Amino acid sequence: MFHNKVINSAVLLSGSNLGNRVEYLTFAQLELLQAGASILKASALYESEAWGFESSAFVNQVLIVETELSSDQLLQLLQVIEKKAGRKRIPTSGYAARTLDLDILFFNNQIIETADLTIPHPRLHERRFTLMPLHEIMPQYKHPVLQQTVETMLAKCPDMGKVEPFIAAL
Ligand code: AMP
Repeated sequence: MFHNKVINSAVLLSGSNLGNRVEYLTFAQLELLQAGASILKASALYESEAWGFESSAFVNQVLIVETELSSDQLLQLLQVIEKKAGRKRIPTSGYAARTLDLDILFFNNQIIETADLTIPHPRLHERRFTLMPLHEIMPQYKHPVLQQTVETMLAKCPDMGKVEPFIAAL
């Protein structure tokens, strides 16, 4: 029997602020590929001061991936990858330093609201470290809830945190 597979398009944010940060972001890409996802586009790496808590700086990257996984399955995969990268979840604490954090920003053009998942990511438009790499690779994409392009959201974003292209030391 031949089954047509549904291909979903997801936009992910990866971030790391512990250890070899670039290596963790590379690890995330390799794990996604290993799980059968395709990476259509990857932004440059951006470095930003930790947001909302005192900690070392983050390196962030936005990825556009195609996958046959549902949004729930993709979230599960991301959590497995985070765990493999050695991230320890401390349930009672809010923000914490992390080797690898993976968020789903967009999933197709869908609006998803479940116990485990809010898509579009509820804080993406408030965070310069998310909007800068998003703007690099998909400036004209329109947020399905806010009905604004990434370009407009970045122009209106009140977050003044410093976000700079990350240049790896050789
Ligand atoms: P964090 O510790 O900041 O990575 O938050 C992870 C938790 O946020 C997980 O338990 C997810 O169920 C939940 N979550 C809600 N919406 C999203 C999303 N769009 N992407 C990733 N995690 C999400």
